[in-house]
Amino acid sequence: MRRGGQLPVAVAVCGLLLTPLTTAGAEDRAQLAGQLAIRVDQVGYPLAATKVAFTDAKGARFELRRSSDHKVVFKGKLEAAQTDANSGDQLRAADFSRFRKAGTYYVSVPGLGRSWNFAIGSNIFDRAYYLAMRGFYGQRCGTAVDLGSEFPGYSHPICHQNGEFHVSSGASGRLVNKGGWHDAGDYGRYVVNSAFASGTLLWAWENYGKNIEHIALKIPETGNGTPDILNEVRWNLNWMLQMQDTDGGVWFKQTSEHFSGFVSPEDDHLPSEVIGTGAPAYKSTCASADLAAVGAIAARTYQKYDAAFAKQALDAARHAWIWAEKNPNATFRNPAGVSTGEYGDAHCGDEQLWAAAELFRTTGEKVYGDYLVQHSAEYLSGLDSPPAESWASLAARGLWAYALSGRKSADPVVVAAIRARTVAAARKVVERTRANPYRISMEAKDFVWGSNGVAAEYGVYLLMANQFEPDAAFVDAARDNLHYLLGRNTFSLSWVTQLGEHPFQHPHHRPSGSGKQPGPWPGLLSGGPNAGRQDVVLAAMAKDLPPAKMYADQQESYASNEVCLNWQASLVFLLAGELQY
Ligand SMILES: [Zn+2]
Repeated sequence: MRRGGQLPVAVAVCGLLLTPLTTAGAEDRAQLAGQLAIRVDQVGYPLAATKVAFTDAKGARFELRRSSDHKVVFKGKLEAAQTDANSGDQLRAADFSRFRKAGTYYVSVPGLGRSWNFAIGSNIFDRAYYLAMRGFYGQRCGTAVDLGSEFPGYSHPICHQNGEFHVSSGASGRLVNKGGWHDAGDYGRYVVNSAFASGTLLWAWENYGKNIEHIALKIPETGNGTPDILNEVRWNLNWMLQMQDTDGGVWFKQTSEHFSGFVSPEDDHLPSEVIGTGAPAYKSTCASADLAAVGAIAARTYQKYDAAFAKQALDAARHAWIWAEKNPNATFRNPAGVSTGEYGDAHCGDEQLWAAAELFRTTGEKVYGDYLVQHSAEYLSGLDSPPAESWASLAARGLWAYALSGRKSADPVVVAAIRARTVAAARKVVERTRANPYRISMEAKDFVWGSNGVAAEYGVYLLMANQFEPDAAFVDAARDNLHYLLGRNTFSLSWVTQLGEHPFQHPHHRPSGSGKQPGPWPGLLSGGPNAGRQDVVLAAMAKDLPPAKMYADQQESYASNEVCLNWQASLVFLLAGELQY
């Protein structure tokens, strides 16, 4: 579908756009049309990086103008039009890479209009990282949360202070286990998804600590001598550790039996239940292996700051590992009477692989290394089709952890295979990204539930390839996927709340939907376009919409507009990797 004067249905029917469209004058309407037709990264572009905007296929020339006085600072020719199969858009690239002066600018196309404002400069993604990490703070459960004077009114009193064992857990009675992060738009806490998020954030610290250590997150622990990203992750780890039974096994989730209404966290009074599989051994293999993996990472990352906690995490990880080995087939399905998130996963072998690799990386012990080598052949081929990383698919995380272990006892053949296959696959992704009219790595098949997380995970994959074989092409392609998330997409929409001039407004997120704050909670990544259409909003959209268009900025569209810990963490990793530019 070619973009004309008409707005895409999904954006036009809701959100802030409605107000200017119905009440603003002709001049404002023309400006908005330009802002939607000229897609830029609304955060901006690093000084020395490739800088490209994409416009509708009108016009021949473009200008870069300084926002403060509208002075033209750069002129260029639009590149030849290309049709983007994912969205149906016809696009021309406006490349202003040669312009290298810091400031705030917009792209102007005579006859089409002007773009949103954006920055060119150094440390361009610092604030995006700050807001995205504060997004985790806002999800904290079991405590009062307050974003402070920067976002007045974005606060809530303490929530979910009482836990109890559900009949499916094999235990009974009360449990005092406050903590963790609300998972997504709901108030549930799920070990597997929070483990993916926690592991990814700890990896961001391990890989890019130098990039992010200067950014204080202004959370209650700031200034305690521990890096803030570790402070934030620990809030969740403390809860995860309490989900471990005395036999080492880990219960799957702690949620109410069904989802609450769209109320603020403190107003959700449904009992918070520790939910198990409903039959012996009650705990979950995937959850136990995930705790083993994340506990092992925590043992490395917190050692310098809190050795006692590092030991506690490693002990828990070893204990969970043994339980998962003894109980390899304890998969989870919602027990009778429970309808909260299922995070269904019939295969926990990849979670065990990840656990083995992280335990090996932390301890160097043979038993863990042997496990990984024995099972590596089963998973190596998965590296050939990136990204596929999510809470249910952790083999690449495991293989990478092994390859990055630096242990002399690591099998050199396996390490070489992991590195070579990752780099080879990333090279193909780079080629595809360069050829894509929006310069993203996404293919039609990637517009699934949480597709923005897929875009971010392409970035993670490319950055990991860069660890194995440093190449600016990997970093650039990763950044191109970040540009897509921050506004260079068919909707000209920043998919991070309160970031950029035109961010999405209506996340499927109970605190944001409670009506207690003036807008959505800041720093949260939307799930993104989803051709699976699993909600009524998407199902009602035109059948011939291309996959990248299947998105609605509506609270009701949980299948395209929910926020979630896993893709939030992938975004943070990508930002951390790009922060040095
Ligand atoms: Zn809570």
